[in-house]
Amino acid sequence: MKNWIRPEIKALSAYHVPDATGYIKLDAMENPYRFSEELTSKWQETLRQAELNRYPDPTARQLKQKISATLNIPENAAIILGNGSDELIQMIMMAISGTERTVMSVEPSFVMYRMIATFLGMPYVGVPLKSDFSLDTDAVLDAVSQHQPAVLFLAFPNNPTGNLFDEQDIDRLISTTDALVVIDEAYYAFAKRSYADKLGQFDNLLVMRTVSKMGLAGLRLGYLAGPAELVNEIDKVRLPYNINILTQLSAEFALDHIDELNRQTDRIRQDRENLQSTLQALDGIEVYPSQANFILFRVLSKPAIEVFESLKKQKILIKNLSHSSAALQNCLRVTVGMPEENQKFIVALKTAISN
Ligand SMILES: *Cc1c(COP(=O)(O)O)cnc(C)c1O
Repeated sequence: MKNWIRPEIKALSAYHVPDATGYIKLDAMENPYRFSEELTSKWQETLRQAELNRYPDPTARQLKQKISATLNIPENAAIILGNGSDELIQMIMMAISGTERTVMSVEPSFVMYRMIATFLGMPYVGVPLKSDFSLDTDAVLDAVSQHQPAVLFLAFPNNPTGNLFDEQDIDRLISTTDALVVIDEAYYAFAKRSYADKLGQFDNLLVMRTVSKMGLAGLRLGYLAGPAELVNEIDKVRLPYNINILTQLSAEFALDHIDELNRQTDRIRQDRENLQSTLQALDGIEVYPSQANFILFRVLSKPAIEVFESLKKQKILIKNLSHSSAALQNCLRVTVGMPEENQKFIVALKTAISN
């Protein structure tokens, strides 16, 4: 092949999504519950009004209003929508991009921060977390003064570690850096802690969320809230009509029935606590406390890949992170599923560890 493709793209491995057909799927932080039959019929009824021959509302005004009203975004904050929060990460970076503009986050964290920076030819710096995965604030501040990042991404709770960083530490970072600080609240429904209330307080703060983990992963919808002057600039790099009409109508419908989604996510929070305490009682693994809908654990007694493969043989798919970085050596991540799925996972895990 000629030199058509940039070397840093050639060096990447594509984001890999395994085929989960036939497995209990506990690898991607999905909500395992669907709408009830009754709600499904109502939803399908509302889709009848979709005019597929027309472009969708380019600004999705009605959907944005519903998001602000039902998901506790303060009135003074402006909102833009993305095709998943992945697209919002891309839009933020495109709006500030340049070969001299550094993107910063912590490690380990969500891989798309690094990947999208690489797509755009921007330097990326990942500051290591402490060994308990808490924020090393002094190290971040040192890295900020050394690299002068244009943007700092912090996932709150963090993925794949599941913990919330200390809010005083985050406040200190936001108030001392000139960088934009994006608080990625993908797991808001499970942690119930948010920086949205602080949007009026800092002019360099953006809060990003997604409906994916709360039960609507198939829709691909994320939202970014922040000061209007800033958000309106980022909106300029958004491709027209990025939120299709089926997503707009379906998300509006879901938000009109937010109680159903809240019941599901509350159930998952409760089951996370159960799964966590069951895992903590097992020998041979170390469990990291989570405020999200997944749990990270380290296998102590054998190579994690063997446990992962044994689970797969038993038709359970989780996420193998054991080779993704030194900090995650021998680590696996399981998504909280339905109680019977969690139960099957525990039984299979015991087999995998003891064999
Ligand atoms: C899953 C996840 C996202 C991406 O969400 P989408 O809206 O599905 O693109 C963003 N940030 C974090 C931390 C995540 O875990």
